[in-house]
Parts: sequence; structure tokens; C-alpha cells
Amino acid sequence: MGVGRIPLLLHACCGPCSLEPLRLLREEGFEPTICWSNPNIQPREEHNLRLATLREWARDVARVDVVVAGDDRDLWERAVAPHGFDRAARCRACYALRLAEACRVARERGFAHVSTTLVVSPYQLFDTCRDVLGRLAASWGLEMVWRDFRAWYPEATARSRELGMYRQSYCGCRFSAAEATIGRHEARDARKAARAARHA
Ligand code: SF4
Repeated sequence: MGVGRIPLLLHACCGPCSLEPLRLLREEGFEPTICWSNPNIQPREEHNLRLATLREWARDVARVDVVVAGDDRDLWERAVAPHGFDRAARCRACYALRLAEACRVARERGFAHVSTTLVVSPYQLFDTCRDVLGRLAASWGLEMVWRDFRAWYPEATARSRELGMYRQSYCGCRFSAAEATIGRHEARDARKAARAARHA
């Protein structure tokens, strides 16, 4: 660890979303350790692929330690899945489950600061995530390090492509996979309708 740097446990949802938060937090003087707790990712093969992508980058490129914390998929089914396609309630419960585990690990390992890569993506529920992590951090006696990383999403996209990292096309759960597919179909239909209107 660098002398004078501030240890921080950084919950990470995947490799590509970790690139910019890690860089920016290091620039600020933090020394992040990454914490993986993502039992939301389905199917299991997808979960394993995202974790392997993160670990390879962490080891070979970023040189950052990764703690693989609890990944209780049964708990996710009980606590999150019943919200189904109610996205606001579902994502709040999902953030709560994953970030609670990160806070538990932070406390157990003596970190005073905790953060998450989740909000580099403009597709996440920014205010909900801040609310959830803020409450959890306070309850565990930790300081939440909250930054708006969304402006760096295009940079994260470009850098992850350059590095040849696996990039997923949906957030993680089966509901988000269905929502992403519907969104892509809607966008395609809108493009077709616009083309047809131009040629009418
Ligand atoms: S969309 Fe993402 S954050 Fe929301 S419940 Fe699904 S996996 Fe969790």
C-alpha cells in the first residue's frame, strides 16, 4: 500500500465499470481494494465470466487486490426476485443486499471508507444507490465515499474495448436481461419507423 494513502473498500459490479472509479479514486489519494459481491448476475456462467474478467484485469493491468465476498444466490431470490419487474423496488433491494455484504467485509477487514463502482453506469438508479449505501455505511460505522462517476462512462466504454474486456449487455438479473431485450427491440422498431417516414 502507498504511504499516506487512504484504504477504501470498493464494491465492484464488473471489470469495465471498475476502470474509471479505480483510476479516479487513486488520483484522489485512496488505495482501493475491490470487493466482489454480486449474486444478482444470472445465469451462473455469466456471473463467473464477469468475475473472471474483473480478476484478470485486476491482476494483470490494475494491480489491485480483489476480495471475493459472499455471493448468496438463494438470498437474492428470496429478497430481490419477488419484486419482479418493479424496477425501483427490485434494484433498491438488490443494491441493499450487495452493498450490505461489502460494508460487512469493510468492517471485518478494518476499512473506514467504502464506495461502489455501480454508479459509473448511467443505467443504474443513482439516487437510490446513494441512499442505500449511505444508510448501510452509517449503520456499520463507515464513511461512504460517494462520487458521480457517470461522466466517465464513455471513457470506461472506450478503455474496456481497447483492453478487450468482456462487456455485458444487461445489468445482471434475468429481469434486466428481459428489459434490455425489450429496449433493443423498441429502439430497432423506432429506427425502422423513422426510416419509413423519411422515405414516405
Ligand atoms: S437491474 Fe441490476 S441492480 Fe436492478 S435488480 Fe437487476 S441486477 Fe440488480
